[in-house]
Amino acid sequence: MEHTVPVNPWVALAYLISGACFILALRGLSSPASSQRGNRFGMIGMALAVGTTLFVHEIASLPEILVAMAIGAAIGIVTARKIAMTDMPQLVAAFHSLVGMAAVLVACAAYLNPEAFGIAGPDGAIFTVSRIEMGLGVAIGAITFSGSVIAFLKLNGNMGGKPIMLPGRHVINLGVLAGILGLIAYFTQDQSPWIFWTVTGLSFAIGFLLIIPIGGADMPVVVSMLNSYSGWAAAAMGFTLHNTAMIITGALVGSSGAILSYIMCRAMNRSFISVIAGGFGGDSGAGAAAAATDRPWKRGSAEDAAFLMQQAEQVIIVPGYGMAVAQAQHVLREMADKLKEHGVRVKYAIHPVAGRMPGHMNVLLAEANVPYDEVFELEDINSEFAQTDVAFVIGANDVTNPAAKTDKTSPIYGMPVLDVEKAKTVLFVKRSMGGVGYAGVDNDVFYMDNTMMLLADAKKMVEEIVKSLG
Ligand code: NDP
Repeated sequence: MEHTVPVNPWVALAYLISGACFILALRGLSSPASSQRGNRFGMIGMALAVGTTLFVHEIASLPEILVAMAIGAAIGIVTARKIAMTDMPQLVAAFHSLVGMAAVLVACAAYLNPEAFGIAGPDGAIFTVSRIEMGLGVAIGAITFSGSVIAFLKLNGNMGGKPIMLPGRHVINLGVLAGILGLIAYFTQDQSPWIFWTVTGLSFAIGFLLIIPIGGADMPVVVSMLNSYSGWAAAAMGFTLHNTAMIITGALVGSSGAILSYIMCRAMNRSFISVIAGGFGGDSGAGAAAAATDRPWKRGSAEDAAFLMQQAEQVIIVPGYGMAVAQAQHVLREMADKLKEHGVRVKYAIHPVAGRMPGHMNVLLAEANVPYDEVFELEDINSEFAQTDVAFVIGANDVTNPAAKTDKTSPIYGMPVLDVEKAKTVLFVKRSMGGVGYAGVDNDVFYMDNTMMLLADAKKMVEEIVKSLG
């Protein structure tokens, strides 16, 4: 046994309990009904882990830790208060970059002062196993950092959503990855600084190279993949710091992020490898292509919409990004309540990537107290559109686009979509005919005979409909 740091059994027990709380948190978060309980478990687990770490504080002094915590908490509080719900993906990307950087900094500190971390023998040689952990930690952390910065810039619109394709990028990427792994292997034999710093530098570069070729439409998967990387980086650093809580939490974040990436890839009908390989969504990115407005289409009013829905037996509401922007969820629930009073059956259809983050629509509808049993996932409701009188699409676009099923040249080809066009009538709420969705493509549903366009801000339009419903 090379490690010399004794583990206090009470500390180990506290970390184990906090790990169990995190597992219960994830379980709770798997359904909107139990998500509050899940959040509470998460908070208890985190409080226990932070409290225990403060109690032990082997490496840094208490005042140092408290100052760092105060700075971090202040940034967190200010950001959380300021950020709009629709900007959540870039916030998540920005926070992941911090996790990646933290892992890099911990690895650097451990490399520069291994004795303080209890990972070196009397001759100053770092233990072999610690070199592996350190090498992997710094590599994954650096990839997470630079990848997340690029994801942030793309999602925030500071950088175009268009994929940037370097010639021979697959060969370059594979070469750099092989170089990093080779150097980590060599690092176990020779702890010279040049090896450590080259691994760090190459990893920063590969994070950048891996994310620039990925197009806007694949960004949701990228964010969740980086989430997974940040977990593995934290787990690797947990080994270096002999911190069980970090190992458990990192592994949970790593595996849940990987599972989420897999689910999202399935939802978009893309293979994980093709997402990582990049290049998808060449014409994507907000506003990349203007919609063609010279085709005939029908415009309706709030009164028309109210009349049609009142007559309906069943209305399926399809919310999307525009509902989130307009914050129309509360008035939407009022509209549904009014329709129910008129004897109409109301259901909500949620596409897995509707909005701008996983679960975006579920969170907003839950906030407006929409009953969970009225909210359905794509695979559970898609067959119902054909027997539905009205599909009420509010601020959604890409997730209803039939081109995903038929047009091989479309950037969203292959993504399963909600079959709204099969409903007897489609009411489509958006602000203008020219506005496009995230993937930047026109939608044939706008021009169908059974579609009525309700052009207005989502919240204003639904308020008008509620008034008309009386
Ligand atoms: P889209 O981005 O396809 O469409 C949004 C629609 O809302 C547009 O047609 C826009 O048209 C309309 N809109 C915008 N503001 C308003 C407003 N105030 N009132 C009324 N309408 C408004 O959204 P979807 O939800 O259909 O699709 C999500 C897309 O985002 C997918 O392509 C997905 O891949 C991607 N994505 C998803 C993430 C996730 O994890 N869920 C993360 C990142 C991207 P107009 O401008 O004319 O009003």
